[in-house]
Amino acid sequence: SETCNPPHLRTAEVIPAREELKEKCGELIITEDQMQTYMKSFLENIERGLGKDTNPDSIVKCFPTYVQNLPDGTESGKYLALDLGGSNFRVLMVEIANKAYTMDQKVFSISEEIMTGPGESLFDFIAECLADYTTEKGVSNDNLPLGFTFSFPLEQKGLKVGILERWTKGFNCDGVIGENVVQLLEDAITRRGDIQINVAAVVNDTTGTLMACAFKDPDCKIGLIVGTGTNGCYVEKQANAELFDEPDTGTGIVIINLESGAFGDDGALDFCRTQYDIDVDEASINPGRQLHEKMISGMYMGELVRLAAVRFTNEGIMFGGTLSDDFNTPHTFETKFVSEIESDPPGTFTKVKEICDSLGMTDATEQDHLDLKYLCQCFSTRAAVLVSCLITTLIRKMESPQTTVGIDGTLYKNHPHFHDIIMRTLPKLLEPDPYTCKVMLSEDGSGIGAALIAAVAAKGSEGGGE
Ligand code: BGC
Ligand code: MG
Repeated sequence: SETCNPPHLRTAEVIPAREELKEKCGELIITEDQMQTYMKSFLENIERGLGKDTNPDSIVKCFPTYVQNLPDGTESGKYLALDLGGSNFRVLMVEIANKAYTMDQKVFSISEEIMTGPGESLFDFIAECLADYTTEKGVSNDNLPLGFTFSFPLEQKGLKVGILERWTKGFNCDGVIGENVVQLLEDAITRRGDIQINVAAVVNDTTGTLMACAFKDPDCKIGLIVGTGTNGCYVEKQANAELFDEPDTGTGIVIINLESGAFGDDGALDFCRTQYDIDVDEASINPGRQLHEKMISGMYMGELVRLAAVRFTNEGIMFGGTLSDDFNTPHTFETKFVSEIESDPPGTFTKVKEICDSLGMTDATEQDHLDLKYLCQCFSTRAAVLVSCLITTLIRKMESPQTTVGIDGTLYKNHPHFHDIIMRTLPKLLEPDPYTCKVMLSEDGSGIGAALIAAVAAKGSEGGGE
């Protein structure tokens, strides 16, 4: 009943799932104590990542991005951007002028073969797409500055130097870990010999998201991605970022790429992980890694729901105890189904029935549909609550009275309630501190954000000026 639900679920749709199933799903509801445990532990992880002596053993890496300036509206020019690491690979052209921008892009699909093949093939493919696009646009020899959005954990040694620490999500290319990915891109461009590009910055998608949001709202101090993977970045004082070794350009700040997806890899999240999380991790291409990401992001959520549904079917609670071959096959239940199912208005079953039918679960009853929707709600709510805890930790860490959080990513964008759950949970978590917070969609950080970073850097290298 209503009163049994924790605050973040009180105003959500109360789905009349089977009682037995609800009871067994209790472990998926993050309690208030667990939220506190999470926030305390996450803060400790950030402190460890920021400290020079503690960073080598830290799980949350807190990489300084070398971005020391937020946009101020004076940025201008024509830029290229590459976006690697999300649901699509893209080449973009961005023009910034008068506090506004226009953007053009081409999407390329990236095969599993490329994602898990030799690094050289990956970078040859990227350079080929870049040549293809810039030739089409007639700018292939203009030496345009390019922002390279490379959404994997990079230890940055400068704005143009990023050493890959590990692959995440579905990628696993040989010969890239430990290398400077900007160099690998430049080498591939040189191998072709037919285009002139000036790689000006390598950028994490969270940093791009923060910059894109800050272009519109100067209070933006946090950038988050909840998409195929998940991660966050925030604005830190240079004095606290012990690994940041560049001269201060006068702002005293630097954006920190947390690489929060790895939180929990030392067991710190075991207090709220479940058997489903363990199973998803064990079946992944990077077992033991990115455990926070695996509880939250789009690459895993559908599979978590499927595993729970399979368990309850095998226990005879759902679907009359019978599974179709499709439903019994890993990864057939896509994360977009979670968003679609939760988009069915209360008491209607259009999408959920369509999806069950498409997976061969044609004998499902209305009660089965409700139960499946309940499972979707459990996992998506859990993810949104964890994201809220992460945001709260950062706001407290910055002691920022007023913060705008820019979020992007397919799951955040497509899920019908993810944003609302964050908005319900945040004020409660921030109590009693006098902090207020806005959360907004920051679209296309990987394009405009990367261009802004290249633009801000170009201003810096001209020797400052005003
Ligand atoms: C990567 C991050 C990235 C996030 C979102 C994670 O797997 O490690 O660098 O920001 O995915 O794309
Ligand atoms: Mg993206």
